[in-house]
Amino acid sequence: MKIVKTIDEVRRQVKEWRAQGLTVGLVPTMGYLHEGHASLIDASHRDNDRTVVSDFVNPMQFGPTEDLESYPRDIEHDAKLVEEHGGDLIFNPEPEEMYHEGFSSFVDMTVLTQELCGLSRPVHFRGVCTVVSKLFNIVKPDRAYFGKKDAQQLAVIRHMVDDLNMDIEIIGCPIVRESDGLAKSSRNTYLSEAERKAALVLSQAIFLGKDMVKNGEKNCSVIIDAMKKHIEAEPLARIDYVKIVDCATMQQIGALDRPALCAIAVYIGKTRLIDNFFTEDV
Ligand code: AMP
Repeated sequence: MKIVKTIDEVRRQVKEWRAQGLTVGLVPTMGYLHEGHASLIDASHRDNDRTVVSDFVNPMQFGPTEDLESYPRDIEHDAKLVEEHGGDLIFNPEPEEMYHEGFSSFVDMTVLTQELCGLSRPVHFRGVCTVVSKLFNIVKPDRAYFGKKDAQQLAVIRHMVDDLNMDIEIIGCPIVRESDGLAKSSRNTYLSEAERKAALVLSQAIFLGKDMVKNGEKNCSVIIDAMKKHIEAEPLARIDYVKIVDCATMQQIGALDRPALCAIAVYIGKTRLIDNFFTEDV
C-alpha cells in the first residue's frame, strides 16, 4: 500500500495497472477513516483488482463559517485502516495540488442541490461535484463507492455522472452505525460525553420513522411530525431539517407513493449531524 501526494504519481500507478488489464475502484473520503469508510473500501476490494482511496479535506465544500480548520486529520491511522481493508493506494494531496493558482472551473448542479443540506450549506455541493469530477478525471476508475450516510451526495453524484456521461459505475453502500445506533461519522469526535448521549436522538428518530413506514403509514407529515417531536424532546438538539423527498429529484413529497428518502440534519450543540433512510430499504 502506497501513499502519494501528487496527481502525476496517481496517474502513473493507474496507468501501470491498466497496462496489466486490472480494474480500478475509487473510494473518495475526507480521511479520519472509520468503519463506515472501511465498508466502502471492502466493497471496492471485492469488486475490483485495485482500490484507490482519496484522503482529502476539500476546502471547496466548506462554507466560510464551517469546520474546515478543525476537521480531524490522521493520515497514519488512515493508512493502517486502508491497508487492513485491502486498499492499494492512498491519494493524499495538499489543497494546492488540487487547486492551483488561477483555478476557476466548477461543476455546479441545480434542482437536486437546492433542497436538504444544499439549503443550509449553499456552496457545499458545488465543492463536492467539482472535487469528485477532478478525482474521476485523475483516477479514471471503473467504479466509485459512496455511502448512503450522505444520501443527497450519492443522488447528486449519480445525477452528475448521468448528466455529464461519465463512464463510471456508482455504488451506494449501507450506513454503518455504532452499536447504540448512531451513524458513524468523523464529526462524532467533536461531541462531548453529554452530546454523544444526546446524539442518539438522530438514529432513534430514524428508527421511529422507519417503523411507521413499515407499519404502512403513507402520510409524510405524520411521519415527520413524530420524528420532530422525538428530537425536540432532547434539550441539546436543534433541528436543521426533517424531510421526506423524492429519491430521484430530492424535492419534498406529501405521500409515500414513490421511492423516497427520509433525511434529517440536527445540531447537537455546535456539531451538525445527519442521518436518513430510504423507503425502499425499509
Ligand atoms: P467523508 O469522509 O465523511 O466525506 O465520507 C467519505 C465517504 O464515506 C462518503 O461516501 C460517505 O457517505 C461515506 N461514509 C461516511 N460515514 C459513513 C457511514 N457511517 N456508513 C457508510 N458510509 C459512510
